[in-house]
Amino acid sequence: MAEKVLIIKYGEIAMRGNNRYLFINRLISAIRRNIDPFGKYYVVRDPGRLIVEDRGGELDYDLLIPKLKTIFGLAAICPGVRLEDMSFESICEESLLHMQEFCGDKEMTFKVDTRRANKGFPMPSMEVSMEVGAYILEWMPNLKVDVKNPDVTLHIEIRNSVYLHSKIIRTYGGLPYASNGRAVSLLSGGIDSPVATWMMAKRGVEVEGVYFHSPPYTSEWAKEKVIDLAKRIADFTGEFRLYVVPFTELQLYLLDNVAHDKLTIHLKRAMMRAGEMIAKQDDALALITGESVGQVASQTMQGIHAINAACTLPVLRPLAGMDKQEIINRAEEIGTFEISARPYEDCCTVFVAKHPVTKPRLNFIEKAEHRLTELDRLLDEAVKNAEVIEL
Ligand code: ATP
Ligand code: MG
Repeated sequence: MAEKVLIIKYGEIAMRGNNRYLFINRLISAIRRNIDPFGKYYVVRDPGRLIVEDRGGELDYDLLIPKLKTIFGLAAICPGVRLEDMSFESICEESLLHMQEFCGDKEMTFKVDTRRANKGFPMPSMEVSMEVGAYILEWMPNLKVDVKNPDVTLHIEIRNSVYLHSKIIRTYGGLPYASNGRAVSLLSGGIDSPVATWMMAKRGVEVEGVYFHSPPYTSEWAKEKVIDLAKRIADFTGEFRLYVVPFTELQLYLLDNVAHDKLTIHLKRAMMRAGEMIAKQDDALALITGESVGQVASQTMQGIHAINAACTLPVLRPLAGMDKQEIINRAEEIGTFEISARPYEDCCTVFVAKHPVTKPRLNFIEKAEHRLTELDRLLDEAVKNAEVIEL
């Protein structure tokens, strides 16, 4: 008897010494959170793997795989079967059934790959592969062996139980969500910052978002767009806190009081400072932005230098070295692109200089900022009046 299961491989966390069991527990909770609403499932540990089973039912791969794919820290998901009977005869029989189901009577090439983690099993891996392969060939004349480039690889994993599978669905990898400290992400409605937020979440950083909203210069639609982006991120993280910070007054103040070609730099510095204030309230250890070196006038090295100096927390810029097309590809893959592509702008043209500086000098910027006597008060007020949305 063989039972349908999902065999889950986790990558990087396998290497993490003492923290390992904590990481695995986080993965199990994430798996449970994503699949428990759909039925009664068991998540079983078998050293090096997590196994999802429903004991007796017909596990619905098509329903469950998409729910599992969004979990960070998983390396691959393999739909397969678990054998009740660990004898060699049972492995042969079930392997044949599996291959018959997978290949039918199509002409195909295959190989058998055996991993024996359970050294109590009496036969070495190579021998299992060869003998099972020979047994399958005897019954399926439509198959041929090709060990270099087979159409199908039958994987036999001998662990506490024996598992068979022939399909490896790669997932995003990364580390279990929230296993690595918190950061505040400056989240606009653009293409870049949602990708940046997602990338840091993938590395196990617990993320929350801050959106600077300037009605009526930016519309309610722009805000809705950011909320939808935050919801999409929450599909991966399970939850997401978004601060919507009213920035109109501060933006108008900057418009009136700084040189227009440096407005963007001052504005971005104000965003960094507000982000840092929220980070400190929430015990976050870093900021995240979607900046990419050279992409726009304010993202020259000099621009980034001048903006970065406004805060003391580390600023994570996971897109720094990526090209726009690479960022777009990632945005499409994770489902944020179609939301970001909606037309509503997150910044009004009133605030965009025709000829922005591309090489701002930090000491000039700081001097100009020194004269902005209302800036601190406006920042305090903006942060105090932020709307908090829990997704
Ligand atoms: P994005 O595609 O993320 O909007 P961008 O290419 O438009 O980025 P900039 O406008 O220079 O670049 O913004 C740089 C970064 O500053 C953004 O990636 C984001 O992290 C942050 N940012 C910009 N505008 C806002 C906003 N209204 N609210 C929150 N963060 C913002
Ligand atoms: Mg933008």
